[in-house]
Amino acid sequence: MKTIANGIILKGLDLTPSRENILIDDGEIIEISKDVMEGEIIDAENKIVSPKFLNAHTHIGDTIIKDEGDGLSIGEIVRPPNGIKHLALEAASDETLRSAMKESMWQMHDLGISHFMDYREGGLHGVKLLRKASEDIPIKPIILGRDGSFYGEDPNMHEVKVAVRKLLKHADGIGLSGFGEIETEVAELICRKCAEAGKISSIHVAESEGVQFDSLEKCGKTEPQRAYEAGFNQIVHMANPKNDDIENLALSKSSLTICPRSNGALNVGINPLKEILDKGEKPLIGTDNIMLNSPNMFRELEFTLKIMKAYSRSYISPKDIFKLATTNACHDDVNIPGLDKAYIEVGQKEELFIANCKSNNPILSLINRTEIDDIVYISK
Ligand SMILES: [Zn+2]
Repeated sequence: MKTIANGIILKGLDLTPSRENILIDDGEIIEISKDVMEGEIIDAENKIVSPKFLNAHTHIGDTIIKDEGDGLSIGEIVRPPNGIKHLALEAASDETLRSAMKESMWQMHDLGISHFMDYREGGLHGVKLLRKASEDIPIKPIILGRDGSFYGEDPNMHEVKVAVRKLLKHADGIGLSGFGEIETEVAELICRKCAEAGKISSIHVAESEGVQFDSLEKCGKTEPQRAYEAGFNQIVHMANPKNDDIENLALSKSSLTICPRSNGALNVGINPLKEILDKGEKPLIGTDNIMLNSPNMFRELEFTLKIMKAYSRSYISPKDIFKLATTNACHDDVNIPGLDKAYIEVGQKEELFIANCKSNNPILSLINRTEIDDIVYISK
């Protein structure tokens, strides 16, 4: 039993700042009130108690090539199979990859991240490598695998089916680089098999304007439209929506994950987040390739708050930005099978961190001012 006392807690799904104590027993929040004080006391005076983060999109394998490829095109950097990232991953030994992934997982843990959703390259072997590497680190990887058989204009559907079945035995789902590399029938098969297994189907869409033009030329549909029709649970990016892509998001089974710093790093555009939030959507946010960005959610949130306000020329609430990384994932209408995230409420798991409060606005203090040394407690 322990009590986190005297802090400003970000309570409930709405992250309402509140001066209350939290009583925790065996990893579960059992009471929140002004006067509860039992067991071990953790003093959070002048501190903020926040739910931990979900980093909803990473590629931690490319920790091995941080900041390489600057100035090249997006295709030259990340497109399989010949982007510099894929060549580097293929050339790397398991040991090199394992220790690089561990480094990034510890960094994420120390920055208040409880879960991360990783697009793991390297097929089944790559999935197993990350699973094993994460075993002794208090962070939960949600691993989305892929396989070389998925690519190309004339895929062997039998091979694809076998690969999907094997992947889904060990992975939490499948994450695809994009429609540019795969055929619609492969996408549909993957979505169907993931749905049958209760697992996640995810794909990058509309990352650059070029891929949208290619998709329209090839089949008369945008990439998000194809993703909605195939039945993906999660689409990533949509920095370049066209036609009715935003309106149709609400009608689809997909939830959206945005990666604004990555889109900036690759000079591909800015996701129209304000417009998407105004439609009542609950997007998630991720730091994307570690070769491009550190997996630090505070950096992602500060960049996102400010670039989105500048881009839309209007006010966006810092709380709405903070929810991208915390409680949006806890809503029932965010359709990501198997994703369990907790928030600060009675009955929820203790999944929180405590950070110094450096201004009179707790959420802006976190977004604008938190450094790693400000985090004084991380729940196990
Ligand atoms: Zn990505």
